[in-house]
Amino acid sequence: KELTDINVLVDEYLRLAYHGLRAKDKSFNAILESNFDDSIKSINITPQDIGRVVLNLITNAFYAVNEKKKMQIQGYDPKITVETKKTKEQIEIYVKDNGNGIPKTALDKIFQPFFTTKPTGQGTGLGLSLSYDIIKAHGGTINVNTKENKGTEFIISLPTNNKE
Ligand code: ADP
Ligand code: MG
Repeated sequence: KELTDINVLVDEYLRLAYHGLRAKDKSFNAILESNFDDSIKSINITPQDIGRVVLNLITNAFYAVNEKKKMQIQGYDPKITVETKKTKEQIEIYVKDNGNGIPKTALDKIFQPFFTTKPTGQGTGLGLSLSYDIIKAHGGTINVNTKENKGTEFIISLPTNNKE
């Protein structure tokens, strides 16, 4: 584990995901918003692992808004928001999108390995199950709020009770 600035890590992976997606699909665009809590101190994590979780969530968010964009709804602006917040004993990372949300029938399966609603070749269904394991191994939690046709937010909570 390494003492890591979560804000820097999240920002880095947000850019990485955005440029990666644009390289694949030149027409893709989205409003990116980030809101970093400057009071957050570095915490002990495995940065590559937490980075991977953030990348998974952001990639899913990009996919969701891109799918909605294809529906050509009047006035729809794809938007991804990442936020960090410090609470008393936790650091929270929010990844929000204004995509189509997760259907109720899928919601209890999304953290299961190999569950995907993406076409063959576009999703392995491993992103969220791996993310769940990584966050659990860090003593944290990962939660989701979603509203059909409105969007989705994933919330990662990580404990700060390790050597700061
Ligand atoms: P994959 O991305 O390979 O499909 P994941 O484990 O990352 O696998 O996600 C599993 C499923 O959860 C997705 O196929 C999709 O149905 C749903 N999902 C995850 N994130 C979102 C999101 N931001 N918006 C809508 N659906 C989502
Ligand atoms: Mg995924």
